[in-house]
Amino acid sequence: MDISYIINELGEDREHYFNAVAPPIIQTSNFKVNTVAELKKLFEDEYSGYLYSRGLNPTVDILRKKLAALDGAEDCLVFNSGAAATFAAVLANVKAGDHIVSVEKPYTWAQRMFDVILPRFGVTTTYIDGTLIENFERAILPNTKVIYLESPNSWDYKIQDLPAVAELARSENIITIIDNSYCTPLYQRPIEMGIDIAMQTATKYIGGHSDTIGGVLTGSGAMMKKIFDSEYNNIGSGIQPFNAWMLIRGLRTLPIRLDRITSATQKIAAFLKEHAQVEGILFPFDESFPQYDLAIQQMKGACGLLSFYIRAVTAGQIITFCESLQHIMMAVSWGGHESLILPRCASLAPGEFDPANKEHRMLRLYTGLEDPGYLIGDLEQAFLKAL
Ligand SMILES: *Cc1c(COP(=O)(O)O)cnc(C)c1O
Repeated sequence: MDISYIINELGEDREHYFNAVAPPIIQTSNFKVNTVAELKKLFEDEYSGYLYSRGLNPTVDILRKKLAALDGAEDCLVFNSGAAATFAAVLANVKAGDHIVSVEKPYTWAQRMFDVILPRFGVTTTYIDGTLIENFERAILPNTKVIYLESPNSWDYKIQDLPAVAELARSENIITIIDNSYCTPLYQRPIEMGIDIAMQTATKYIGGHSDTIGGVLTGSGAMMKKIFDSEYNNIGSGIQPFNAWMLIRGLRTLPIRLDRITSATQKIAAFLKEHAQVEGILFPFDESFPQYDLAIQQMKGACGLLSFYIRAVTAGQIITFCESLQHIMMAVSWGGHESLILPRCASLAPGEFDPANKEHRMLRLYTGLEDPGYLIGDLEQAFLKAL
């Protein structure tokens, strides 16, 4: 299906709402029925129609159709956050006594679920370096039910060979879940590589304006119905109609924003690589990246997030660098219009900074929609002040 069709038309029945170009926000909690038979059908299968907006809602459905199609998936559920989407996807596929294999350093709140919440219910997790398929083979136990992936990882950009992991998991009857937030479906379509559930935070590129939180799951119709019937409705973390409308609005410009961010990121990457105060960059589509060949084979693009190692000898210099930036803001998140910086040293204990450890000198930079020359100027003046 054509991406332009998906983004501009799919799921939108304009003749049902006065031919308005923008869809209505169906801000209602409940829906009336006309017959007892209709009510009975909805009680038996809430996934079959509109009963109550904790379940299905027409504005949310427009978004669901578009996001499913972008992923080449049968179906989709949209949550009030990416963290909620991850939680529902995992919870729906484990029970007491089960085991999960996860890539190391998954997104913070995925890791907290594995480390803090699931052990209370007797579900254990083994973390592996997902860059080698043998590590998955070795970690799988008879009770392994889920393999959790994040490719690329949003901190170190490590990549997993998705078709290989999917094939291994299928042969062992294990459900695969991937956090595909870095790429979005425009740059990577995991369902087509055999992954069962693709999760992405919609807070980042889909929303694109740093003003909405949301999360997405795509997969088979049966899997989405299973999650809807239990976790989605029970946790009650489905997205609200207004936020769904914001995300439909964000989707309209997703391809053009990704194009712009991709070309700007390349310019910033080239600037940083040449810079005397930079020891190197970490970016999946840079030839120096350890898994460059797999990245270009598996992903259609890479943009926005990259990391670089600053040649600082004290943490103070890194602090001065970050605090000297005039336009690039210091903040968590990414995927919006605004460029952002995050220093790794902010998560170190006092006195732990060791300039010999490259990781301590790492900064994560997100390139937004500003002019790349404007951003390069900002970085350059901060380098001059700090070093
Ligand atoms: C932000 C983020 C999430 C969580 O999404 P929320 O919408 O903030 O809950 C998950 N994975 C990655 C890689 C993220 O960057």
